[in-house]
Amino acid sequence: MRIRRLKLSGFKSFVEASELRIEPGLTGVVGPNGCGKSNLLEAIRWVMGEGSPKSLRGGGMDDVIFAGTATRPQRDFAEVSILLERQHGDEGQAGESEVTRRIERGTGSAYRIDGRDVRAKDVSLLFADAATGAHSPALVSQGKVGSIIAAKPTERRLLLEEAAGISGLHARRKDAEQKLRATEANLTRLAELLSDQE
Ligand code: ATP
Repeated sequence: MRIRRLKLSGFKSFVEASELRIEPGLTGVVGPNGCGKSNLLEAIRWVMGEGSPKSLRGGGMDDVIFAGTATRPQRDFAEVSILLERQHGDEGQAGESEVTRRIERGTGSAYRIDGRDVRAKDVSLLFADAATGAHSPALVSQGKVGSIIAAKPTERRLLLEEAAGISGLHARRKDAEQKLRATEANLTRLAELLSDQE
């Protein structure tokens, strides 16, 4: 899976609708301090489902919305979309999908895949199956290089599991175990009802 394009509107310092094409090969983002380089990486992590405002350098999720400046009023929403290209061998059919996350001030955020409303969980499973996501070790923000080098063996194992694409399977196993427990409880209840009838 490859990210082909990033679109932002009202996200942090990107108040105007902006679009960035990501060409094959290595992409570098350069610019003066404070111009928004880290905000771009945070936009990618946010649309992939990042749920912690702290890891996006904010106090609350609404802090990703353009907060206004001395000359411009704040915005009421932020929206980020990424266009994904699935190649042969990736999960699902080869083709393109656009994942969008939008947040409105005070009302929380919602996701769409190719214009269809979906749950946050659908988005996180999509990326987990593709061995990527908001916490992918491939997205290394400033200051994280040292922490990866110094990671404990258990933390490194999580990184390897994520890179190997099995974290989606863990999420599905948890779901399946919950359903299994609910079904077992139903069967016990059924057995009790049947023995009451005898
Ligand atoms: P550096 O090279 O110093 O790390 P950078 O290019 O990575 O900087 P960022 O940290 O991405 O820059 O951007 C910081 C800028 O984004 C600051 O000017 C900050 O005021 C602005 N910013 C962050 N959140 C918001 C927001 N919600 N509304 C408006 N501007 C914001």
